[in-house]
Amino acid sequence: MEITYGFSPFRKEYHKMVKDGLITSCPFCAESDMESQAIRSQNGEPVENEFSRWVINKYPYSDGHTLVVPKRHISSIHDMSRDEIISHHEMIRFAADTLQKLYPDAGIETFLQYGKGSRMSLPHLHTHVVLALPTDTYRGMQKLGYFEAFEEDEEKIIMLPVKVTLVREKLIEALAKVIDLSELAKYTTAQ
Ligand SMILES: [Zn+2]
Repeated sequence: MEITYGFSPFRKEYHKMVKDGLITSCPFCAESDMESQAIRSQNGEPVENEFSRWVINKYPYSDGHTLVVPKRHISSIHDMSRDEIISHHEMIRFAADTLQKLYPDAGIETFLQYGKGSRMSLPHLHTHVVLALPTDTYRGMQKLGYFEAFEEDEEKIIMLPVKVTLVREKLIEALAKVIDLSELAKYTTAQ
């Protein structure tokens, strides 16, 4: 059996920070973090609606790895108000369509996890909005680390590391070219 695995050096960086106790407060509540992770239009306006933001994953697993994050610090889907749920899903739809402008052959997968037993690493709810490419060899939640390796040459059955390239600042730049913020209003569900 052939298994392709993702190798993201950014995850290694993240796990080291967690191990060294360097993540002491919620980055999704820190304006400086949200500033640097904001996905923006070409004139620099962050993509956000009333209750949620669209940001890049600072420690991505794969190309085009983004997150939709509620503005309020909430840890469970049960803490979301009806307006927050609607706003969150409108932002997911905008994110999905925008990612597909950048990757016309891609489908979209979204993942949300919370609570004990999940792999949620931050107690601030967030939905991963990621690409589903025809070349993907793993699907669904497996993308969030099931085959994750921390060393590029770690022993596996067969190792075919997939390089993570279009992420962080490069992803923000690439997305800015296809974002049309005037379209965001169209994603507002009629009351
Ligand atoms: Zn938070």
